[in-house]
Amino acid sequence: MKMFLVAFLLCRKRAIFVSHFTINHQRVVMRFLTLILLLIMALAPSPSFGNSKTGRKTAGRSTASSDLPKFAAAYKIESLAPNLHTYQISVTVQNAEKKDEIDFTLPAWRPGRYQIQNYAANVQEFKAVSGAAALYAMKVDKQTWRVKTDGKAEITAIYKYYAGAQLDAGNSYVGADEMYFNGSNLFVYTDETRFKPVSLDIVCPDDWKIATQLERLGKTNRFTAETYDDLIDAPTVASPTLIEFSTVVRGAKIRMVFQNGERALKGFQFNEKNITRDIAKIVETQFDLYKEVPFKEYLFLYHITPYRFSHGVEHKNSTSIVIGGEAEMDMRYDGFLSVTSHEFYHVWNIKRIIPKEFLPYNYTREAYTPMLYVSEGFTSYYGDLSLVRSKVWSPSRYLAELGDNITAMQNTYGRKIQPLALSSFDAWLSGYGTGRANSTVSFYSKGELVGLLLDIEIRKRTDNNASLDDVMRALNTEFAQQHKGFTASDFESLVEKIGGGSFKSFFEKYVYGTDELPFDTSLELLGLAVKKSLARTPFFGASATVENNFPVVSAVVPESPAALAGFDKGDMLIALNGLSLMNESLNKVLERFKPDERVKISYLRGGKLTETTVRLSGAYGYSVTKKLNATEAQQKMCESWLNAKWDDI
Ligand SMILES: [Zn+2]
Repeated sequence: MKMFLVAFLLCRKRAIFVSHFTINHQRVVMRFLTLILLLIMALAPSPSFGNSKTGRKTAGRSTASSDLPKFAAAYKIESLAPNLHTYQISVTVQNAEKKDEIDFTLPAWRPGRYQIQNYAANVQEFKAVSGAAALYAMKVDKQTWRVKTDGKAEITAIYKYYAGAQLDAGNSYVGADEMYFNGSNLFVYTDETRFKPVSLDIVCPDDWKIATQLERLGKTNRFTAETYDDLIDAPTVASPTLIEFSTVVRGAKIRMVFQNGERALKGFQFNEKNITRDIAKIVETQFDLYKEVPFKEYLFLYHITPYRFSHGVEHKNSTSIVIGGEAEMDMRYDGFLSVTSHEFYHVWNIKRIIPKEFLPYNYTREAYTPMLYVSEGFTSYYGDLSLVRSKVWSPSRYLAELGDNITAMQNTYGRKIQPLALSSFDAWLSGYGTGRANSTVSFYSKGELVGLLLDIEIRKRTDNNASLDDVMRALNTEFAQQHKGFTASDFESLVEKIGGGSFKSFFEKYVYGTDELPFDTSLELLGLAVKKSLARTPFFGASATVENNFPVVSAVVPESPAALAGFDKGDMLIALNGLSLMNESLNKVLERFKPDERVKISYLRGGKLTETTVRLSGAYGYSVTKKLNATEAQQKMCESWLNAKWDDI
């Protein structure tokens, strides 16, 4: 209770009161003010965006943890020191006397990012109590604290959590004007309570609004979830500056909440009217695809950053998206819609249609699956496809994006090294750009393109009577709705059932092998041509970062001109044909040369100035266009694929 009061006062901007009184009077006055404030809070409602059952926008405050017998675990989160970015978190569990010891465990990773992140590194001063009595607690591994129960029925674990790293959609942050958290980062669980009903008290100033898809208990700041897994599947923000729009699609309420969006939302494109209209279209298109409305209410939770950024994380009935920069949201409107559509498609694909290897989630260690190319790659495929099908994007906008995606893939050396299924399996090692440069391929980008090719192959074999849409729907009805996870062989069997024959060769070549993806022959079936053309900048084959005003090689592509000339990571490039690279972009200077041209490069390695000659080669870009002589069957297939008339494509 003492900790609650201390934090409570801090949370209510103590400095405003303190500055008017002398130190001698401060304690007495503060106690008096606290009592008055508690009385006022008990009586006065305040605005809130919580997901109340009644839908009323009212707020209240937390109640004491002693009146929580029906919850197996009662969580509380409060801002302890906003300038030090520290939360105070407690969890009280009941019926502990039946066990000698109870383990409190913090996840090492979160669903949505398949990489060990060791959130326990942010935990400080973990202790356990039962009422006023301290209990013995010790760490038994990097993320687990074992508490001796001493026969006590009610045990509370209390700890601080550092949440001050740069905000992204999957982490947590606390500052002077915001509490944002993903429960997976900072709430410990016990095996005894994980699958039982839990509650969460959020302590914050009365004039702050709270946005979350957790169930709100009446007018309080207490929220509930059926299990711990549901608790951590609802990103939550509390702040005085939230802006909310909403609309209704097929009877479901669609909420759009923006943090720090006030200036950005005054854009020519990026404004309430356009966003509400376009999101409604995306949502409707995806409801149509799955022929299902799987919730009564859904929350798009956005943070707008002043700097360029884009990151989203999916949840069962909500998504959290962090995007910026604030000043250029008009120009980034397409990107905003793309990430929005991607995250919404996850409502089915991975939040309900789940690889079997994940179930139940084991948050303490890696969960290996080859299926992230479906869960993430196909989500990227359908994310953008939904934009054109819903007429939010024009067909030409979509085909331009497709050309860019093919260009990126064909310029990824790792496509020749790592099969797609292995990229998924090894997500834990290298799925997010860390680790082995030039030897990996993204299960997002290659998965997206393999999704396209599989869609076309099914359409071809069934005379356009079936498509990948039918496979995704079958995954939903035969697995998600039966509360079953799916395996690689479940998925491949469904493709063969719907596609009418063996797809063994397709999967062997493009999913389990590294054959080049047949864009030309495949897209021709849709009446489209893939054009390959030389890029303006010749190909050198080394990426570089700037150090001391000169580009320094950070990675070398195997078999590239840079590799053949012997360049290595750490080489500082000084000049090309005598042209200084000081304060210059390497790519800009390369634009002055042509493929096949021989260029003298001066560089520093180990403090020694050296010179060598490199023969540049060509870099290629790809674009997708309509074929002038497309057959009627090809035109029809393209029309049904994009939900557009051939003349409008
Ligand atoms: Zn995703």
